[in-house]
Amino acid sequence: PLTALSNVRVDVMSALVSFQRVFEVLDLKPLIREAEDAKDLPAGAASIVFRDVDFRYPGPDEVSLASLEDLARPDRSDNGRQILTGVSFSVAPGELVALVGPSGAGKTTTAGLVPRLYDVSAGAVEVGGTDVRELTSASLTEHIGMVTQDAHLFHDTVRENLLYARPGATDEEVWEALDRAQIGATVRRLESGLDTVVGERGYRFSGGEKQRLAIARVLLKAPPIVILDEATAHLDSESEAAVQRALDSALEGRTSLVIAHRLSTVRRADRIVVLEDGAVVETGTHDDLVDRGGLYSELYKTQFAERSGANSEYGAGSSG
Ligand code: ADP
Ligand code: MG
Repeated sequence: PLTALSNVRVDVMSALVSFQRVFEVLDLKPLIREAEDAKDLPAGAASIVFRDVDFRYPGPDEVSLASLEDLARPDRSDNGRQILTGVSFSVAPGELVALVGPSGAGKTTTAGLVPRLYDVSAGAVEVGGTDVRELTSASLTEHIGMVTQDAHLFHDTVRENLLYARPGATDEEVWEALDRAQIGATVRRLESGLDTVVGERGYRFSGGEKQRLAIARVLLKAPPIVILDEATAHLDSESEAAVQRALDSALEGRTSLVIAHRLSTVRRADRIVVLEDGAVVETGTHDDLVDRGGLYSELYKTQFAERSGANSEYGAGSSG
């Protein structure tokens, strides 16, 4: 349901700002269409394969609010710049693959193609051995848990925010997920506990607390595939350590694609895929890539430099 909702949001956001798509908005036509003969993924299917993927964001009939004046320009065909070029890599069931690269390299874009937030321009993304365009969105959503940089909470109770991940979960299961995500104690301190309403007119969780609630959702859902952007730029060091313990817990025993900002994650990854300007420039283990002396070894010295002092267990760095 979360992926479905974010699809709707992408739709509405891109459509609302385009005069040309007003009628599509009224029709609520989805940006991503499910194939008529779409299949369900078998339970537990957990591999991810990118085959020579090219990608550009939808253009030129879609504009952002920032470029409304572009509408006056007759030819906007230069919109939709190619973002990913020939991206190939795979994540076998149970493997941890780290995506690293400079800010703007295309890491978040790559991660978003797995739950099919957008369709590729060329090539294919496969989950469980099947092209995601041939899968039902419900089964794809069921198989993937995602924690992004800006965790989104609905204006509803804490309990309902968790139950989106697994309708029918008991309160006991919800508390267990909250505790493992290092946010249980915070919720227990609230007068209304799980019935606390969150959001604009309710209780406002901090950035770090929201991220831990998003992790609790993934823990409750226990999907075969977990995708996460572990950036912790806006967290203080205390909640950063708590979020990082929670993230580690969410990845345990699952197929994991992680946009890694921590040395401890990239070090233990089965494979590191290094992206630069939308292309894979290096692939290998930490030791391989440090020996090669390429882009990764540079990032290792800067972005992934060990933090000195009490937090040395964790890598610093937050770009991207
Ligand atoms: P990273 O996560 O590695 O920092 P992103 O995947 O966020 O990189 O961005 C890659 C490129 O795609 C950037 O040039 C960015 O400006 C562009 N981009 C990201 N999101 C969108 C979008 N929704 N529409 C158009 N371009 C985008
Ligand atoms: Mg990013």
